[in-house]
Amino acid sequence: MRAVQYRTIGAEPEVVEIPTPEPGPGQIRLRVTAAGLCHSDSFVMSLPEQQYAYGLPLTLGHEGAGVVDRLGDGVTVVTVGEPVAVYGPWGCGRCHACARGAENYCVNAAALGIAPPGLGAPGALAEHLIVDDVRHLVPLGDLDPVATVSLTDAGLTPYHSIVSALPRLWPGSTAVVIGAGGLGHVGIQILRALSAATVIALDISEAKLTLATEVGAHQALRSDESAVAAIRSLTRGVGAQVVFDFVGAPPTLEIARQSVAAGGAIEIVGIGGGLLATGFFSTPFGASVRAPYWGTRTELMEVLDLARVGAIHVETEVYGLDEAPAAYRKLHDGAVRGRAVVVPSA
Ligand code: NAD
Ligand code: ZN
Repeated sequence: MRAVQYRTIGAEPEVVEIPTPEPGPGQIRLRVTAAGLCHSDSFVMSLPEQQYAYGLPLTLGHEGAGVVDRLGDGVTVVTVGEPVAVYGPWGCGRCHACARGAENYCVNAAALGIAPPGLGAPGALAEHLIVDDVRHLVPLGDLDPVATVSLTDAGLTPYHSIVSALPRLWPGSTAVVIGAGGLGHVGIQILRALSAATVIALDISEAKLTLATEVGAHQALRSDESAVAAIRSLTRGVGAQVVFDFVGAPPTLEIARQSVAAGGAIEIVGIGGGLLATGFFSTPFGASVRAPYWGTRTELMEVLDLARVGAIHVETEVYGLDEAPAAYRKLHDGAVRGRAVVVPSA
């Protein structure tokens, strides 16, 4: 089968021919119908050799959807031909976190060598994908896999973050979204669907600010030195009850620190290399700072249901497998509108 692999540290991913995998006991093989490209892949491929811990060659793709096409021994529950979305942050399935569906916070995954597809295990940017357990499959029903595959990360990650912050997002509150890219443009819609908060989006690209407004942001501002004063002014000096930073770089964390309200929350979702000092001489009284990771199994079901009722959607750019390296280049350059999705059959 064809697959998109990261094979050499520092080099571009390559489209290669590899053996089609067979599902082992308890595993399920999917024929991939769609796979999303995430900025985290760019982050992984930017790591120097000493910090790179995902194995080589690595078949990329941690946002996957497919049709069940072969069952390993002992697999019941799902049937061949069923369309599914893949829950990516695989855990041990047995610890307290996993039992609650929060496999993203599994306490055993690292020690057991369990890694998400595309971030250690072979990923979804291929014609076929092995999923290790039926727990990690959510029925897609009649949802279009190309339109919804990115909800498995670009939807689930902001959803998980926003749900935790919802008690602060009362009517009259303000939510700031920094970075209106793949995650951010879905995050804006989730905020509009779940809360009555005023949503202020920040980005460095005019095109992304336009997109932010189109998907529901009340205000769209340039992410520069003027942003803090603008947020303070729009909130009558109070600041934002919650700042969602989908960039996580030093300058955006500084905007978050200066624009969050007392008692508010900063959610650092982006992996932009920034660190935020928290304490009496940094963040406002009572403000909390959190760096959430991905989301839970039930939250993925909820995100898909939000799409099913038409409350959220993903803006997509569709590519074939052969075009994946070029699509990653475009993502790296900040030029993808919404999410780049690879369709292996295209
Ligand atoms: P993306 O490239 O699609 O979007 C990033 C957006 O940020 C772009 O619109 C870009 O113009 C904008 N941007 C860049 N610098 C900015 C700045 N200084 N101020 C404001 N906006 C700026 O990326 P994505 O796939 O949406 O991922 C966003 C981040 O979230 C990445 O760092 C990614 O690694 C991370 N991520 C984290 C998790 C998690 O579990 N915490 C999950 C997925 C992705
Ligand atoms: Zn991701």
